[in-house]
Amino acid sequence: MIFLTKFSSAIVAMVTLLLMCACSTTETVPLKKHHTSHGYVNNTPQESPAIGNMLEFAWESLTSDTRSFEYPIAKNDPHFLQHNTSEATITWIGHTTFLIQMGGVNILTDPHFSERASPVSWAGPKRYTPPGLSLAELPVIDIVLISHNHYDHLDLNSIRQLQTMQGTTPPLFYVPLGLKSWFENVDIKNVKEFDWWEQDTFKNFTVHSVPLQHYSSRTPWNRNESLWSGWVLEYNERKIFFVGDTGYSADFKDIGKRFGPMDLSLLPIGAYEPRRFMKSIHVNPAEAVKIHQDVRSRYSIGNHWGTFSLTTEDMDEPPKKLKEALQQANVSQSEFFVMQHGETRMLDLLLNE
Ligand code: ZN
Ligand code: ZN
Repeated sequence: MIFLTKFSSAIVAMVTLLLMCACSTTETVPLKKHHTSHGYVNNTPQESPAIGNMLEFAWESLTSDTRSFEYPIAKNDPHFLQHNTSEATITWIGHTTFLIQMGGVNILTDPHFSERASPVSWAGPKRYTPPGLSLAELPVIDIVLISHNHYDHLDLNSIRQLQTMQGTTPPLFYVPLGLKSWFENVDIKNVKEFDWWEQDTFKNFTVHSVPLQHYSSRTPWNRNESLWSGWVLEYNERKIFFVGDTGYSADFKDIGKRFGPMDLSLLPIGAYEPRRFMKSIHVNPAEAVKIHQDVRSRYSIGNHWGTFSLTTEDMDEPPKKLKEALQQANVSQSEFFVMQHGETRMLDLLLNE
């Protein structure tokens, strides 16, 4: 039965990956270097995984003996979070979903509260650790930051529920260029889309879209038709950097030059094996440490691990590899750490140290 479930999940993953190879034929007029007639491209072109790699990856996923874990949820205080208007906090809900509270503004990153990171509810990567906060436990959200349209980052069900729950005061969705129409198609109009290096202000915040090394696709026909972005939040001299998914690239030195030093970076550390397939799209912990250094972050929180099992490394490996990488790079373990699912940290305590 386990094999059958794994088999159906692997088939969905394999078909999705194979379909992702189909190139878009949509003609767009190139305006900037990363805008091309065949969709958006990275600043540093890297070889896309070939069909052979994808088949190999699908086979390895099917046959690998990846150890998966359900992590315990930290005790948190939804009542405090719902009524908090003065304290700066961060709560790791799971994967790349964080609740950030600063200056009375509630920000949610890549909201994902569903059982699977998949276009279908019956197969595809399943959640091992439940969300650290449920949708019903959230405060009223002001801003939602979306990094890109992959299923583990853009979850239709979660977004619809969020929109419905907040009724007449829906959150404002900040999305990468080309993704606004996806929201409009599901009848969500409170959306602003941004190209790399564009910015917007919301109350006392400035929100910047920044380039990453990744790609987008949600169906066989829309590869790279929408962009993938990191986000820098500036508030009262504080800077928080949210990444989502990325491979390692020169973009981070550029981001560091423009915005560094960051006070806090939310960096992915999981879904990196096998390297020959994943290197161009997902960093490993050692590369995440390089990003931490490139953007001169005072603190970083490792995420994109321990929630869904997406690739072939054991689910508990990323934090172990992070510790090794920090040691090798001579960076203190207290600078770049992982949180427990559901854990809330008081940001003023952390950042005023
Ligand atoms: Zn992705
Ligand atoms: Zn991802």
